[in-house]
Amino acid sequence: MHRHRMLINGELVEAQGGAWIPVLDPSTEEIIAEVPAAGPSDVARAVEAARAAFDSGPWASSTAQERGRLLFKIAQRIRDDAAALAEIESRDCGKPIVEAEYDMQDAATCFEYYGGMATKVLGHVNPVPDNALSLSLREPVGVAGQIIPWNYPLVMAAWKLAPALAAGCTCVLKPAEQTPLTALHIAGWFEQAGFPPGVVNIVTGLGVPAGAALVAHPGTDKIAFTGSAEVGKIILKNAADNIKRVTLELGGKSPNIFFADADFEAAIDGALFGVFINQGEVCSAGSRILVERSIYSRFVEAITEKARSIRLGPPLDRATKMGPLVSREQYERVRGYQELGKKEARLTAGGNRASQFSRGFFVEPTIFADVDNSSRIAREEIFGPVAAVIPFDAERDAVRIANDTPYGLAAAVWTRDIFRALRVVKAVRAGIVWVNHMQPTYVEAPWGGYKQSGFGRELGPWGIDEYLETKQVHINLNEQPIGWYS
Ligand code: NAP
Ligand code: MG
Repeated sequence: MHRHRMLINGELVEAQGGAWIPVLDPSTEEIIAEVPAAGPSDVARAVEAARAAFDSGPWASSTAQERGRLLFKIAQRIRDDAAALAEIESRDCGKPIVEAEYDMQDAATCFEYYGGMATKVLGHVNPVPDNALSLSLREPVGVAGQIIPWNYPLVMAAWKLAPALAAGCTCVLKPAEQTPLTALHIAGWFEQAGFPPGVVNIVTGLGVPAGAALVAHPGTDKIAFTGSAEVGKIILKNAADNIKRVTLELGGKSPNIFFADADFEAAIDGALFGVFINQGEVCSAGSRILVERSIYSRFVEAITEKARSIRLGPPLDRATKMGPLVSREQYERVRGYQELGKKEARLTAGGNRASQFSRGFFVEPTIFADVDNSSRIAREEIFGPVAAVIPFDAERDAVRIANDTPYGLAAAVWTRDIFRALRVVKAVRAGIVWVNHMQPTYVEAPWGGYKQSGFGRELGPWGIDEYLETKQVHINLNEQPIGWYS
C-alpha cells in the first residue's frame, strides 16, 4: 500500500492536517493507496503558489513556443509510460484495461494538441474609423481552479491542464477523491519537464472542503468544473461573490434515436456501445434509447440478448468488456435505480448485482423497455449501465421526446435518410450530435452542453478560448491635440 503525495509549488507534499484518503480498487474493495486529504489551508497554499507563479514568476514572461514544448514533453512521458498509467487507471476506477489504454493515448494527444496550439493564439486588428491602430490581444485569464470527476480521471485532467497551460494560465487541479492516482503519478513530471514551481498544482481532497475552498478562494480567477449538475449549481453560486469566470461540463440524459431504416446490426451495436461503454459512467451516455415503433419489439429483443452476453470481469483482464462501478456509493445509487426501474417499466435484461462476483461493485448491464419519458429512470442521470428504451411513432415524436429533458449534452440519430438525419440534427437541443454513431470524441472538436448540461466548451480552439481574456488596445496615430475644449 503506497502513500502518494500531492503537488504544491513544485514540491510533493502531504496535507498540513496530516489526514489521508483511502483509495479503493472497486473490483476487490481493497485499499490500494492513500492520498493526502487536503483542507482549506493546503488549497490556499496551492492557490497562492499559482498566484505568485502567474503574477511574478518566470511563467509570466514565458513564450508560447516554450509553453508548447513543455506540453509536448508531458505528452511524450504519458506515451512512454502509458502501460503503467493504464494499469493504475484501470485499478483505480474499475474500467477495463483496454479502455484505459485508449484513455492514456487520448490524454497524451490532448497535451500534444494544445502544445501545438500555444503558438496559434492570435490577436486581431480592428478596422476602426480613425487614424489609429486598434488591436485585440488574447491574454491568459490567470489562476485556474479545476475540479474533475472520477469517470475518465487522466483524460479529464488533460482536458483541463493542457489548454490552460497553453494559454499561459497557472493551475490548481483537484481530482475526484475516488480516482486521484494517475494525476498524482504524473505530478512530479511537471517539475522535471521544466515547468516553474507553482504553475501546476495538484491537490487531492474531498469536494467539501477542498473543492469548495478552491471555488471560494479570492485568488482563483476561473473555475473549470466537470461533474454533476447538482454540484455545478453550488459552484456557480459560490463563484458569484468575486465574479469568477466559470465553465461547467455537467451531466446528461442523452437520447440515442433509431429509425426503422437504420442498418439493424450497426444499430444494435450502437445502442449498446452508446450506453454501456465505461460501465455507463459516461456523461454523454445514450441512456434513453428511442426506437421507431415498427422495429421496436425486434430491437428490444436483440439488444436484450446481446446485453446478456457482455463480459463482466476483473478490470485488468484483457477480455473484460465491463468492470465494476467506481465506488460503493455509485453502486448503491445504480442499484437503487435498478429497483426503481422495476416499478416504472418492463425489465428485459440485468436488473441486479452481478452475482458471479463475491466482492466488488459489479452490476449487471440493465435494460428497461416500454419506458415512459416522464418516469424517473428516463429523467434522472443514473451514470451506470442502465438503459431506458422508449418507443416512438413519427419523426416529430422522436424529436419531442429527445428534447423533453432538463439536459442537453449529447444525442445521436441513426437513419439512412439524409434529409431526416439533418432535420433531427438541427432540431435536437444538445451540444454534440452524432449521426450513425455514438461516443467518438476528438480533441479537435468542441465538447460541452446546452441547457442544464452546463456552458462553455472544452477541446479544439474553443477549449483554449475559455482560458483567455480579450484586451482591446487603441493606438492613436494623430500627433495633434484633440482640441475638444479649445
Ligand atoms: P460530482 O459529485 O459532481 O463531483 C465532481 C467533482 O466535484 C469531484 O472532484 C468532487 O470532489 C467535487 N465536488 C463535490 N462537491 C463539491 C463542492 N461543493 N464544491 C466543489 N467541488 C465539489 O460528480 P462525480 O460523481 O464525480 O461525477 C459524475 C458526474 O460528472 C455526472 O453527473 C457526469 O455526467 C458528470 N460528468 C460530465 C462530463 C462532461 O464532460 N460533461 C464528463 C464526466 C462526468 P470529490 O469527488 O472529491 O468529493
Ligand atoms: Mg478508486
